[in-house]
Amino acid sequence: MASRPVAQLIPGQPTEDGNRVPLTRLVPGRGQRGADAFQAMDPFLLMDHFGPMVLAPGTDAGFPPHPHKGFQTLTYLIQGAFRHRDSTGGSGLLRPGGAQLMNAGSGIVHEEMPVPEHLETGGPIEGVQLWINLPRAHKGSAPGYTDLQPESMPWRTVPGGRIRVLAGEWAGVTGPAVTPARIAYAHLELEAGARFEQGVPAGWTAAVVPLRGTVTVGGTAVAADTVALLGEGDAVALSAAGPASLMLLAGEPIREPIAHYGPFVMNTPEEIQGAFEDYQAGRMGSL
Ligand code: MN
Repeated sequence: MASRPVAQLIPGQPTEDGNRVPLTRLVPGRGQRGADAFQAMDPFLLMDHFGPMVLAPGTDAGFPPHPHKGFQTLTYLIQGAFRHRDSTGGSGLLRPGGAQLMNAGSGIVHEEMPVPEHLETGGPIEGVQLWINLPRAHKGSAPGYTDLQPESMPWRTVPGGRIRVLAGEWAGVTGPAVTPARIAYAHLELEAGARFEQGVPAGWTAAVVPLRGTVTVGGTAVAADTVALLGEGDAVALSAAGPASLMLLAGEPIREPIAHYGPFVMNTPEEIQGAFEDYQAGRMGSL
């Protein structure tokens, strides 16, 4: 197997979104315009590492109702709890080690807010939200969401660490999230001195994203909250000198035109206009 080198190191951009939620925007990263990131990271549109932070008691930091159209969100919770509600009548509780796959499809309104216990006592919160583009043929699909319980994607032991597979196949394990875009996505924790290697199809976009600690890919050190976009090859190989926690990200590019505005990702500016009209006319529903 030919290990992929680091093609580009893209530091995350500390920012805030929703209702005062501090996060690091990894895609698009610092210095990237959306269009650059869309091309480089296809089929991925956005990746946010929210927290780790400690909510003070009574803090209502979260994401109040807002619309989406034309893509999917995969929200993975590492610490804390989040309650989800959406305009299709869906609701669920995100727990550590669990995730939620939401298909915005033809349009949805949703919110992600702290649970009452969290509001009362405060406490830590941390997670990663990934936006996965939908191929044109799926942008009009029925909206909805799927809870992926922690039990459906348990930690599996790998040499020198453990892996939780959210989507696609890593380390011989297939994750529960199934998306029209072909992707492979996992959370990997490594002990000091560990090495990890895995085949990834040539031609797929691939990236290594440490959340904590530093990993080395082909001689290049990759710090926490940095996207290491990988070059050509058919394998991902990395090592960790100290303890590290990272997301492994791979996907087959969709290679379709992207028109993006705020919470909508379509193929043409006219479709973006249509998304605004749908939302304003209430055709995406409400909470
Ligand atoms: Mn959202």
